[in-house]
Amino acid sequence: MTETIEAPAALRQINHWIGGRPVAGQSGRKGPVFNPAAGRQTAEVDFATPEDVDRAVQAARAAFATWREVSLAKRAEIFFRIRELVHERREEVARILTSEHGKVLSDALGEVTRGLEVIEFCCGLPTLLKSEYSEQASTGIDVYSIRQPLGVVAGITPFNFPAMVPMWMWAPAIACGNTFVLKPSEKDPSASNWTAELLKEAGLPDGVFNVVHGDKIAVDAVLEHPDVAAVSFVGSTPIARYVYETATKNGKRCQALGGAKNHMIVLPDADIDMAADAAVSAAYGSAGERCMAVSMLVAVGSVADPLIEAIKERIPKVKVGDGMDPASEMGPLITREHRDKVASYLEDGDVVVDGRENCPDEGFFLAPSLIDNLEPGMRAYDDEIFGPVLGVTRVDTYDEAVRLVNDSPWGNGTAIFTRDGGVARRFQFEAGAGMVGVNVPIPVPVAYYSFGGWKGSLFGDRHIYGPEGIDFYTRGKVVTSRWPDPATSKVDLGFPQTR
Ligand code: NAD
Repeated sequence: MTETIEAPAALRQINHWIGGRPVAGQSGRKGPVFNPAAGRQTAEVDFATPEDVDRAVQAARAAFATWREVSLAKRAEIFFRIRELVHERREEVARILTSEHGKVLSDALGEVTRGLEVIEFCCGLPTLLKSEYSEQASTGIDVYSIRQPLGVVAGITPFNFPAMVPMWMWAPAIACGNTFVLKPSEKDPSASNWTAELLKEAGLPDGVFNVVHGDKIAVDAVLEHPDVAAVSFVGSTPIARYVYETATKNGKRCQALGGAKNHMIVLPDADIDMAADAAVSAAYGSAGERCMAVSMLVAVGSVADPLIEAIKERIPKVKVGDGMDPASEMGPLITREHRDKVASYLEDGDVVVDGRENCPDEGFFLAPSLIDNLEPGMRAYDDEIFGPVLGVTRVDTYDEAVRLVNDSPWGNGTAIFTRDGGVARRFQFEAGAGMVGVNVPIPVPVAYYSFGGWKGSLFGDRHIYGPEGIDFYTRGKVVTSRWPDPATSKVDLGFPQTR
């Protein structure tokens, strides 16, 4: 975790957002926020105490009483306004993302667009919340189901998608009638306050959306708070496991999405140029800091040498630089420590391209790197590196390739590149991962499907956003109803049966 530090007074201050306004933290503990392209601290963010978290939860609790009564029509109207505002201001938030995360502007805009799709899905909330009705289930008796909000729900999010991942959570949660407390990453917190202001402008009542910043202290306060009904988490696997165990131990519903090591299998019959373009885009986009990045290439048979050659040709053409420069295609990593940790993996296997050479002098940069001949048991194969390092494993057969995917402790995404539809179909059937791409390297589902991995990539039984997101943020109730008909009324002590 980021250490708290003393910082000069001139730094921009980032406060919590509680009950519809910015609220300064009570503890005096703060964390540094950097511009990773310059390697300079630009702001400091308040770290919440359990009392700050309680204030946010109480604001959300008070707002829940009225928000759950707001009609579906009115909620949908607010969502359409949110959609319009995010769309109009996407460049503004993209700049915030680039300045704190480092990803290039075009990629930041892509992040906002994918988050916007989830907001658009939520505009259909009246349809999404429709239920079932059985007339005359028994004589004179009707039975119907309804889905109701849970109450105050919380989201804890990672640094790599500071706008989109919170949208995956708050949009369906609020659409379903819940109120929300967000604990975003302390490394790039400003997008959350930007969102809070935008939601207020769109007409969302105060207290429906709140932000508390901070570290483990804030997270633990959320996980232990008796008035928080459910927690959505996205981040690394060890913390996802901890959040899931702690939240469920405290009686909360929880979905906790973890890390990944996504394998892309390339078969000998694949189009080499298409596979090489896909591998370079999916491994180095956003400097590899994507949970759906391709981090392992599994080259089957004779495809390895030509594929590596094609990737090697493309790597020097990737323009590494400040994300604000429209010419840049890949920005820096999030912090100096993370950059150094990622670079430390360039010791295993056979390093074909070493990204430590040819990096900009300032900032937390590491250029695209390629390592051949990695195998299970090597650190660079076993760990989630979460940086611009693409590993290659060579195998002889399709079966060996699938075994690597299925033996991985993670199961977020995987992809196969081939021209053979029969093999692709077999792969879709056999692959032990939650999201599968066929000639598509980053198979992030569209907003009307749900996103989630298997094994160490997800703790809990509901994927995020889409139909499973609506399920996660609601609970079912079944009503059995009879309107008085004196002609059929009598005492009956038997167990209710249909007649
Ligand atoms: P992280 O696990 O370090 O942090 C995630 C959140 O947990 C942050 O809000 C952070 O403040 C909090 N946190 C960190 N340490 C904690 C602790 N000890 N106790 C309680 N809370 C703690 O993750 P990150 O570095 O911000 O993000 C990168 C990770 O997220 C990668 O592993 C990546 O694969 C994963 N990720 C997964 C998905 C997915 O959909 N599966 C999506 C995006 C990112």
